[in-house]
Amino acid sequence: MTEEAMAWFEEEEEIGTIRCVICGVAVDSVEEALDCDWAPFFYEGNDQHGPACAGCSSALMRVDEFGEMEVKEEYRGKIRYLDEPLEDDGDYVFMGAIYN
Ligand SMILES: [Zn+2]
Repeated sequence: MTEEAMAWFEEEEEIGTIRCVICGVAVDSVEEALDCDWAPFFYEGNDQHGPACAGCSSALMRVDEFGEMEVKEEYRGKIRYLDEPLEDDGDYVFMGAIYN
């Protein structure tokens, strides 16, 4: 676990829950996420998303040449992230902006 990954998890924990951006399952603490093999963040192309639960990360992702999790090619552009704004909801705060 890198420091960047830990920081990502800890920021989520401050919000209250650590929630998978793909399926929405949540855990309460960094420890629980680590125990369950969550991926703190991952890439789809140049976009960074996260965290992802073990189920989603093992089904949809692979480790790239830099040791980072990335979405497998066949799933790119097909995943609906919970941290992305809904097109018809102008008031939605784009959570991803906090991390970039
Ligand atoms: Zn998930």
